[in-house]
Amino acid sequence: MHLIILKKVIFLQEIRNKDSHSLQTRSSIIIFVIVLFLIFLTRIISFLLFHTIAELFSIVIAFSVFAIGWNTRKNIESSLFLILGVSFAFIGLIDLLHTLAYKGLDIFEGYDANLPTQLWIAARYLQAGSFLIAVILFNKKINPNQLVIFYTILIIILLLLIFSEIFPVCYIEGSGLTTFKIVSEYVIIGILLGVILYLYKLRKEFARPMFNLMVFSNIFTIFAELAFTTYISVYGVSIIIGHIFKIISFYLIYLAIIHKGLEDPLNTLFSKLKHSEETLVMKAEDLERAYSLLKESEEKFRLTFENASDALIWADTSTGTILNCNHATEILLERNKEEIIGMNQTNLHPPEKREFYKNLFKRHVESEEIRSDEAEVITKSGKVIPVTISASNIVVGGDLIIQGIFHDISKIKKAEQKLKNMVSTVSHELRTPITVLIMSMDLYRDRQDSMTPELQNKIIETMERNITLLKDLSEDILTISKIDEKKMELELSEFKLLDIIMDIVIFLKPFCQEKNVSFNIDIDKNIELKGDNKKIDQVFRIVLDNAIKYSFEDSMVNINAIDNYKSQSNLVEKKDGVLIQFKNHGIGISREDLPHIFDRFYRASNVGDISGTGLGLAIAKAIVQLHQGEIYIESELGKSTTFSIFFPKIN
Ligand code: ATP
Ligand code: MG
Repeated sequence: MHLIILKKVIFLQEIRNKDSHSLQTRSSIIIFVIVLFLIFLTRIISFLLFHTIAELFSIVIAFSVFAIGWNTRKNIESSLFLILGVSFAFIGLIDLLHTLAYKGLDIFEGYDANLPTQLWIAARYLQAGSFLIAVILFNKKINPNQLVIFYTILIIILLLLIFSEIFPVCYIEGSGLTTFKIVSEYVIIGILLGVILYLYKLRKEFARPMFNLMVFSNIFTIFAELAFTTYISVYGVSIIIGHIFKIISFYLIYLAIIHKGLEDPLNTLFSKLKHSEETLVMKAEDLERAYSLLKESEEKFRLTFENASDALIWADTSTGTILNCNHATEILLERNKEEIIGMNQTNLHPPEKREFYKNLFKRHVESEEIRSDEAEVITKSGKVIPVTISASNIVVGGDLIIQGIFHDISKIKKAEQKLKNMVSTVSHELRTPITVLIMSMDLYRDRQDSMTPELQNKIIETMERNITLLKDLSEDILTISKIDEKKMELELSEFKLLDIIMDIVIFLKPFCQEKNVSFNIDIDKNIELKGDNKKIDQVFRIVLDNAIKYSFEDSMVNINAIDNYKSQSNLVEKKDGVLIQFKNHGIGISREDLPHIFDRFYRASNVGDISGTGLGLAIAKAIVQLHQGEIYIESELGKSTTFSIFFPKIN
């Protein structure tokens, strides 16, 4: 907006300047014409008065040309105007002598009308010659001082020639102009024509008005010269016309030198000014662009800072006062920004370890590299959260501050703990059957001969059971890793539900007998399931194994199935399928344990010394989900537990 206004102002100024300039030129021309007319009028009084005033006027112009040319020589780049300017001082000087020597004034005693005529012709030679040299040396560099010296010497020589009467005679009283004078005028006209031709050649170097001024100045001089070739008396009409033309010619040079010496540089100055204004405008535009880019990147940075998933905290390096933080910090610490900013960073940590964290902060401030340490922060509600803090010193707005990136590692810590648990559970689970196997083998080897066949069978059975256990455990771990790697694939087939359940029950019978647990099965023999029968078999085995393991002695396990069951749960949208329920009476599961019962390696607190890895239900759930089914549990601690498994109809 501001730029547009600025541009308009510059444009309007330009127009106003151009207008005032043309007005000035016009009014000065009008004044000149009036003065010229007044000079002409003096002829009525006397010819001498006319001649004197006309000459003086042209001399004034000549000296003005010199004065302007000389004083503005630094602005005039072309030597043409410098030569013109300097030459006019000397032309004016000779013209002055010519005026003073004019017939009737009788200032130079002993000289007749020949002297002013000689001086005249000398001045015109000098004028035409100077112009010719000026156009020839158009773009040559000329030293102004040397030029003045040259002209001074030249004029001294000329005057010496004239006053010592060596200069050819130009006017003879009674007979008029000499041949030398008339020929000289033609020679001068020739030189001036040459100058015009030369100017025409150089026309591209000048602006049109400048070119016109110079050409017309020469044309008027030519006219003046033509007029002077014709006079017989030094008071004749042709002399009056000649002088008028001469004044016009001088005036045109005056206009040219004014234009070149004053207005041109002003225009140049103005165009430089305009150029620098334009540059300024461009720079302002660049600045505006840079500013908007800066704002954009600032906004990007702010968004990145604000939306970072890790908590970002800026603190004063010397006091530890928190200066800024992002939204993730608010979530991590359960506090809003207003509370956090202004707090001391040590208060982010549990109170009992603040001294340690004070030192850690110091180490972070002193460190030249990015440091990463494990730490703990305390939330508003008093929860302790493990984090890693990556700290680095950064400069914000010229101040050195410390930036801490707080990354919540509680999930990693939990996973680590889980892994530790798994390793210890697995190794414990492995150790038991392996120990039993080793002991059985030792016993068999040492006492083989003295053993009764029944004892031998028993030992072999024990060994077989433990080998199966080892096999099961390794298979469980393998299954879990397959699930994790998403490598588990289903081999679909249709099979009868009752058949599969009966097979498992028969297989588990020995274990049931130990606790005297019996089964009550209520399943229609026609109910069919479609799925991977080996994997579904594994699910039922896991659930039934638990049902026996966690049942009271002499209790009953009920198994029933509902066909065409419409699932009501959110997970499956009212799909049609089969619901199988397993209810056992035993230790049950507490409310606290229920939500975690499907977690890997999770075992309820009431399992006591009942063996297990805590992997069974995690595997069962994964297999059911692969079939787009669902598994859920209801339990009453110390009473009963029911597992419900739903398999939707697969087409
Ligand atoms: P394993 O992987 O060897 O079967 P596990 O039986 O301990 O070991 P899961 O089958 O995954 O592991 O069962 C997880 C936990 O759920 C058990 O440790 C137990 O606490 C609880 N649980 C499972 N079924 C029952 C049940 N029918 N009655 C009571 N608690 C049960
Ligand atoms: Mg189990």
